[in-house]
Amino acid sequence: MAETCFSTSPSGAPIAALSKGGDSTSTVRTIAISGVTFEVETTVPTKHGTFQFRAYRDLVTGSEHLAVVSGTPTDGCLVRVHSECLTGEVFESQKCECGPQLDSALNTINQYGGVVIYMRGHEGRGIGLINKLRAYRLQEAGLDTLDANLALGLPADGRDYSAAAAILHNLRLHAVRLLTNNPDKVDQLTGHGITVLERVPLTAGAHPANSAYLRTKRDRMGHLFQHAL
Ligand SMILES: [Zn+2]
Repeated sequence: MAETCFSTSPSGAPIAALSKGGDSTSTVRTIAISGVTFEVETTVPTKHGTFQFRAYRDLVTGSEHLAVVSGTPTDGCLVRVHSECLTGEVFESQKCECGPQLDSALNTINQYGGVVIYMRGHEGRGIGLINKLRAYRLQEAGLDTLDANLALGLPADGRDYSAAAAILHNLRLHAVRLLTNNPDKVDQLTGHGITVLERVPLTAGAHPANSAYLRTKRDRMGHLFQHAL
């Protein structure tokens, strides 16, 4: 039976599980900023450990998101909200740090318990695979990762995390320790009713091939890195 959760109520308070079994009332639809429907949960063994995979459908974009759960998470647990990156995770591209960050996050929640929310539709900071490769072409001509997006008429970062907040509400998680270097994730989740108790840095994935990319994210996009670049 599907369970629908939304990112926030008008007051900012969580309204998780207001609607169950597809019984989304007009009131809920009116006040919802974003929502997901929980579809299925199953156990999946991986090289990082054995996790519960919980699949959600995004009611706004139609994307299928995944919550990878270790243990029985409660408020205060570690959470990573990870944006899909085909080039970095499947092909292990060294132009970004996404693959090692995902590996590190999965290893961390396997050790300490927690959740990795894997956000589909976030390729290239939300511009999609084709536009991401177009931006890479412009970077070959000397533009940095931010200016390349802008030169294509696209946002520097188009990612929206409201569905991640809705998933956290579905998991009854309202206060988390967030594994991220990106202050925008902290701000967006906070805006959708999630208390971020602590930002826990992720240091994986720095490489000579992506040092300029990481410096741009640090110097022009506000990302916070503990390690030298
Ligand atoms: Zn990436």
